[in-house]
Amino acid sequence: MTKDYYEILGIQKNASKDEIKKAYRKLALKYHPDRNSEPDAAEKFKEISEAYAVLSDDKKRVQYDQYGHAGFDQMYTTEDIFRNADFGDFQDIFREFGMGGPFGNIFGQMFRGGYGRPMKEYGADLEMEIEIDLEEAAKGVKREVTYHRSKACSRCRGSGNEPGTEIKKCDGCNGRGQVQQARRAGPMAFYTVTTCGKCKGEGSIAENPCKNCAGSGKISSNEHIKVDIPAGIHSGMRLHLSGLGEYGKDGPGDLYVRVYTRPHKKFERDGNDLWIDVPISFPKAALGGDITVPTLFGEAKLYIPDGTQSHTVFRLKGEGMTHMKGRGKGDEMVRVIINVPKKLSGKQKKLLKEFEGEKNEKGFLGFI
Ligand SMILES: [Zn+2]
Ligand SMILES: [Zn+2]
Repeated sequence: MTKDYYEILGIQKNASKDEIKKAYRKLALKYHPDRNSEPDAAEKFKEISEAYAVLSDDKKRVQYDQYGHAGFDQMYTTEDIFRNADFGDFQDIFREFGMGGPFGNIFGQMFRGGYGRPMKEYGADLEMEIEIDLEEAAKGVKREVTYHRSKACSRCRGSGNEPGTEIKKCDGCNGRGQVQQARRAGPMAFYTVTTCGKCKGEGSIAENPCKNCAGSGKISSNEHIKVDIPAGIHSGMRLHLSGLGEYGKDGPGDLYVRVYTRPHKKFERDGNDLWIDVPISFPKAALGGDITVPTLFGEAKLYIPDGTQSHTVFRLKGEGMTHMKGRGKGDEMVRVIINVPKKLSGKQKKLLKEFEGEKNEKGFLGFI
């Protein structure tokens, strides 16, 4: 289908404003659905009106010439095109020909699309936060939580109507649950469909509201659930529990549980690795040997080679966090910090001085 606006109006690319107006006037009077009973007249009328709306606007015409139809389509919706269009005296012209009032209705048919189809009404999602320890995050944990949510009333099964009594069709929306409102843009009308305020979209009004829920169809409920927190979960992650949110006529919302890990006294997590600072003595660092380091669930032996410098990092394979996806575990990264003693015995001082002297004799600079 050709959608070139110039072709639609049957004019040249260099047509003057006056020529555009004349062409539109001729075609509009021909295809106005109030005068033309051909089945595609309305569609044709919309097409020429759209072409006129664009080509009569200097800015839009330049953009149309520059970007072509496809490019222009991406810049404006049909509603945008009509919203700012200046149909000025055409409204008078149409009125003159007795075609005023029902103008909008033609377009209403085309634009309102979904009218009459009730919108699905799902319950709202809920979100809550829980805190766990790093140990729990490592192993996974089942956590019991309590929260409030709305549920379908058991007495009326969500209808809001006292069982055994009649439900009346809403006269605000004629039972549709929705009302449409027209907004005018030039000679066009655009329809928005909103939920009926009188029946709140139900389409019906309970004359005898349910005694249990006062006609709302839902009741507040205290829920106790067990949340299964997977091993390896990262702080701030959200668990999705389908169907545990607020009540909705067409289905409940979901519950999201955001899980935070409390800071640990000893360990810091980096991805799936755990970091820890472990103090070691100067002689241990100098001479080497085994040290005992804490792990998340116990302790492990770590061999320190002689001549280890402070802040050297050693890796303990597989002592980190469980990988949430896939197998295996992260590592424990042990950063050794050489501890300088603050109090020394006389003997220790003497030994250190001897050590210092020996160093100096060999030509090293001593520490001050
Ligand atoms: Zn009820
Ligand atoms: Zn209604």
